Amino acid sequence: MSTVLPIAGMPVESDEDPLDLIEEIERLKIREDATILAHFYVDGDIQDIADFTGDSLKLARDATKVTTKTIVFCGVHFMAESAKILSPEKRVLLPDLLAGCSLADSCPADKLAAYQQELRAQGHDFVTVAYINTTAAVKSLCDWIVTSGNAREIIDRIPQDKEILFVPDQHLGRYLSEVTGRPMILWPGSCMVHEIFSVQDLLRAKKNNPGSIVMAHPECPKNILDVSDFVGGTEKMRRKVSETKEPTVFLVATESNMIHPLKALAPQHTYLPVPGISASDGTTCACNRCPHMARNTLAAVRNCLRDGRPEITWKPYFADAQAVLQRSLL
Ligand code: SF4
Repeated sequence: MSTVLPIAGMPVESDEDPLDLIEEIERLKIREDATILAHFYVDGDIQDIADFTGDSLKLARDATKVTTKTIVFCGVHFMAESAKILSPEKRVLLPDLLAGCSLADSCPADKLAAYQQELRAQGHDFVTVAYINTTAAVKSLCDWIVTSGNAREIIDRIPQDKEILFVPDQHLGRYLSEVTGRPMILWPGSCMVHEIFSVQDLLRAKKNNPGSIVMAHPECPKNILDVSDFVGGTEKMRRKVSETKEPTVFLVATESNMIHPLKALAPQHTYLPVPGISASDGTTCACNRCPHMARNTLAAVRNCLRDGRPEITWKPYFADAQAVLQRSLL
């Protein structure tokens, strides 16, 4: 049996019985009048107890439909922030405030504002399109917010005579530029998980699994997308596996917890995470797991429900971010 190495910087999972924790969470959910939202990249046991699961776009929309007074957002900080911005009257809890995002961190608001000013001074007439993986302060500086699920549709709406500044993911921006035919000024950010896949490991896995289909998230660099059979965000991946009727081997190049909802939806297939087993002793590098998403443990979910914190509170700049989020996603 293979062993998964611990993820650097991640809290060690509590030794409490998961079934006891789940029971306690169910009790606290009723006491606190709470709804649990979970991203596809958190552990499967948390996805299983969630009321809503999905990608960033679906969860942002789901958050607006919640009827309880509290939302527990099992994901990362910018997602919980977006839920608060779209549903300001709700109490929004995030199980661990340190659940950040390397991609969001790669585009600080002050640096973006300075760059926008520089581009204007050079005479560029542009709109700023931000991937949803950005802080609320960055969103408030942008014209449109996109996810991998709605990016094409929004980019197609931008008048042809405008230039596009795309932030923060250079790989997604390059991919979108290719599929929409729109040149873009790209911010040089990237995701620590999607950037780490090894093309050699992927090609080896493909060779060892004849007939397999490589599915890659567009946050992956070009060298991975070039050898993939299918490129799409998490909702598109779900559609692809449910439309494929014949049992198939899928090599999945995204956060490895994504395999959980794929298996639940289309159990006839085999799903192998990229890069897969990488050492001769059977250990895996665990580099396809997001250390920020991994901060969402059952114990952290229970603690935040029990203690009512950490809470995402309203900040004055949320108002500007609210306008752009509503225009883009709802
Ligand atoms: S997988 Fe990448 S983009 Fe997603 S939350 Fe983790 S660091 Fe951010």
